[in-house]
Amino acid sequence: MPNHLTGQARVKAIISGVVQGVGFRPFIYQLAHRHRLVGYVTNTSTGVEIEVEGREEDVHAFLKAIPEERPPLALISSIKTHPLTPLGEEAFLIKKSQVYAHRSTLISPDVCICEDCLREVFDPNDRRHRYPFINCTNCGPRYTIIDDIPYDRPNTSMRKFPMCKECGSEYNDPRDRRFHAQPNACFQCGPEVFLYDKEKKPVLCNDPILETIKLLEKGFIVAIKGLG
Ligand SMILES: [Zn+2]
Ligand SMILES: [Zn+2]
Repeated sequence: MPNHLTGQARVKAIISGVVQGVGFRPFIYQLAHRHRLVGYVTNTSTGVEIEVEGREEDVHAFLKAIPEERPPLALISSIKTHPLTPLGEEAFLIKKSQVYAHRSTLISPDVCICEDCLREVFDPNDRRHRYPFINCTNCGPRYTIIDDIPYDRPNTSMRKFPMCKECGSEYNDPRDRRFHAQPNACFQCGPEVFLYDKEKKPVLCNDPILETIKLLEKGFIVAIKGLG
């Protein structure tokens, strides 16, 4: 509710559409900081819920920027807002996801590798050089790894892969491209590639991908299974 004595306003916004697993919370976090707003953003079982508080014109500019600057993979079907009384908070937080009885959020499809990840995967100096499951907030598996909503790592098949220290610091750094990227992984902590023969016995080799290439060149037929 705009407070005309102080010029402060607080607004709740409920956003629905494809807004989970597409870098929406990091986007809102950065947008709120840019507009000097406090409050929070959280995933819910119906979409994304935001409360922002700050100067009235900053709150309006923030709300206007959401559809205009949304992450490339996000699809907004509705933004419902209503005014609240300012609380005088001091920070903007990404809060733990909320689970409501009503569950209806849309789920993103898996997204092919982005240009940044493609550059890293072929960079011999990158720690994910030739890591087949490389991903970030702009690409990677979504639909095939999701067991439940809200879209958080414990609700995906990635829950079996606790992040290593480096992946964890990327995940927790708001300036990082992998901030809150749920499938974030690397050679140290993430899924690996295995090669089996037709009797389902492991084929012993140093590099299952190179071995697969050799087999294909020799005329073998290989079935490939991805994440999910
Ligand atoms: Zn990427
Ligand atoms: Zn890792």
